[in-house]
Amino acid sequence: MKKNRKTAIETDCIHAGQEPDKLFGGVSVPIYQSSTFAFENSAQGAARFNGTDLGYKYTRLGNPTTAALEEAVAKLENGEKALATASGMAAISTLFMTFLGQGIHVVSTDSVYGPTRTVLEREFSRFGTESTFVDTSDLNAIKKAIKPNTKMVYIETPGNPTLSICDIAGAAKIAHAAGAILVVDNTFCSPVLQKPLDLGADIVLHSMTKFLNGHGDVVAGIIVMRDHALYTQTKNVLVQMGGTMDPHQAWLVLRGLKTLPMRMKTAQDNSIRLAAELIKHPEVAWVKYPGLPSHPQYDLARKQMKGPGAMISFELKGGIDAGRILMDSVSLCTLAVSLGGVETLIQHPASMTHASMGAASRKLAGISDGLVRLSVGCEDFEDIKTDIFEALEKITSQSPALKQAVQAV
Ligand SMILES: *Cc1c(COP(=O)(O)O)cnc(C)c1O
Repeated sequence: MKKNRKTAIETDCIHAGQEPDKLFGGVSVPIYQSSTFAFENSAQGAARFNGTDLGYKYTRLGNPTTAALEEAVAKLENGEKALATASGMAAISTLFMTFLGQGIHVVSTDSVYGPTRTVLEREFSRFGTESTFVDTSDLNAIKKAIKPNTKMVYIETPGNPTLSICDIAGAAKIAHAAGAILVVDNTFCSPVLQKPLDLGADIVLHSMTKFLNGHGDVVAGIIVMRDHALYTQTKNVLVQMGGTMDPHQAWLVLRGLKTLPMRMKTAQDNSIRLAAELIKHPEVAWVKYPGLPSHPQYDLARKQMKGPGAMISFELKGGIDAGRILMDSVSLCTLAVSLGGVETLIQHPASMTHASMGAASRKLAGISDGLVRLSVGCEDFEDIKTDIFEALEKITSQSPALKQAVQAV
């Protein structure tokens, strides 16, 4: 493909960084499953280490299969450079290790991915980093949280599981005015729906475990940026700390990536229809989905995202018991954490991922007892709907009042 021709994301997912192999013309990028690379002679070895020869040396420092994936995702995000990592958390902790440290302050989203918050509060605090978590759907809350030593604003939008949305362009202005960088976790949207670098973010990251790979069979992450100085700084830390990606893992993600726009479209079409049906169900108190006009930031979602995505949160009127009945009654939807795969996954935070927090802390974080999170997949819409609606009927037939009566007997 001609390098300078402008192509659509559907084309880039299949071709960017993925030229036929130079040796034998293999159409699929070869898996260079080699830890080290031979030098022809001592002069070449010396040149590779002093940077005058850009050939490969050792897989932790760079690998051709991993490089193909990095080139592809950099293009999808309209970035210049990318760094593939062993997991989404490896991407996140590499960025923290690069840009945070003694005496540095970071502002982040209160409902940020749990382990991200834990890494800041429990690990980086040990090295003198301060962190403040605010509702980043309110730009004023970000502004108020900024301190003279704030060097990073780190947001996740839409947030999890609340699906609240942060104005990326607004957050970028606030961060830059304070001399900080804006980092965006774009896992929930994928570059098909949202391109934070175009909106002013300095760095974008993904857990590629989710939509980018999309087949529930790999844990992986990536960091994307435009600025070469930020890239070099981050790369130095990544290759020294060792959170780099394995070539076989890179190949699996390249394979999943090819169908990203198709998967996203199918899952999103299913989600739009499902959200519209759920909101009408008598057991459902409310539905939070960026595609519904009832979403508090519906207009912002329409402006900053190309589509509302495939994540839906909804509240069951029957609270924790109703949540348990729903989880135990679905059969097509898989009861599992994670998201962004071809299979529909269902999760009840109050009885599962967030059970250990206790009811009071959950309430503070906006996670109510009847909250259900759905990652809508690519199955047939009617099949997904039938499964969920039959399970909702079970709640009606086993309502708490009924159960109390049964227990009283
Ligand atoms: C899953 C996830 C992560 C962590 O990614 P891993 O690949 O599990 O390490 C980070 N951010 C978000 C939003 C996620 O959903």
